[in-house]
Amino acid sequence: MALAAAGLALPRGSSEGELAYAALRTRPPAGAVRLNSNENPLGPSRAALDAMQQLGAEEGRYAFQADRELRARIAELEGLRPEYVETFNGSSDPLHRAVLAFTGPDRAYVYGEPGFEAGWQAAKISGAPAIAVPLTPTLAHDATAMCAASPTAGLLYLCNPNNPTGTTTPREQIIWALANKPAGSILLVDEAYIHFSDELSVVDLVDSHGDLLVLRTFSKLYGMAGLRMGLAIAQPPVLDQLRSYGSTISSITGVTAARVSIDDPTLVPTRRAYTKQAREETFAFLTKYGYGYYPAVSNCFMLDAKRPAGELATAMREQNVLIGRSWPVWPNYARVTVGTPAEMKQFCTALRAVTA
Ligand code: PLP
Repeated sequence: MALAAAGLALPRGSSEGELAYAALRTRPPAGAVRLNSNENPLGPSRAALDAMQQLGAEEGRYAFQADRELRARIAELEGLRPEYVETFNGSSDPLHRAVLAFTGPDRAYVYGEPGFEAGWQAAKISGAPAIAVPLTPTLAHDATAMCAASPTAGLLYLCNPNNPTGTTTPREQIIWALANKPAGSILLVDEAYIHFSDELSVVDLVDSHGDLLVLRTFSKLYGMAGLRMGLAIAQPPVLDQLRSYGSTISSITGVTAARVSIDDPTLVPTRRAYTKQAREETFAFLTKYGYGYYPAVSNCFMLDAKRPAGELATAMREQNVLIGRSWPVWPNYARVTVGTPAEMKQFCTALRAVTA
């Protein structure tokens, strides 16, 4: 009410699911191929499903101990101190908190364009100017331009690989940004999709940089979007700022599935290869039939619709295939999530049908 009284509309959609399904406007048709929200059609791993099923009455308990052990295990696997890891209900949550904590009317929010919208939705609440910096011609973040965008920037948001383009920013550029960003600012590196690519994470830099915040989620490669598990990795003063906006306790099911998933050393390479194959088969089809797209290394890519992308999405929906939204700077491109090989075949067939 206070926001409404101040004339500020509450932003809608500060997570991928909300943004994707808001773009659909109506309930998705039953049985539709869902390539619109960067979910993972495989869902949680078999072992994670089994572990959740075995929880039984334990689901009636708060997950404190299991959560502590999960954080300790993640720290161990990543070579970090345990106090550098905090769990959240997905990573949209700490992203939202970070924008509230580190930006404001005098501390801009700087992001790559086209980029994930959640951060600038949050900047509407903090009252921060949101400064869009176009991606480079190779669709990396332009670290130089981002660092120069505002001398009083509060937060620089760099998504690697980027949503929606599925393209990466080299680690050297991130290191350069850490050394050259405005004094007092935080660099947030969003690694929601890092497991799909061969790009190196920057979590190892947290130990030497108190102004770096890395976010991860279990919603993508781990197939746990509905379970809501995410991570913030940073030094304690940064994590304390995020905690100050409310509880961080996660669900016992999410913590359990996350623990089993990270303890399976085959899961990331197997699923990365699976997605890569489906993606490359799709790209081979698109190339063969002359469709435009930007090569990506993630679970999504941008397709040239050659017309307002919403029109293509509507036509595809009539074929029972849901594709993703477009971005105002690229109105003729639609984001397409990489599904299973069978789903991508359906996508290709439908695309031929509506563009023939
Ligand atoms: N960051 C980016 C760039 C995303 O695309 C998403 C989800 O699509 C997230 C973070 C976090 O998602 P969740 O809140 O499901 O963890």
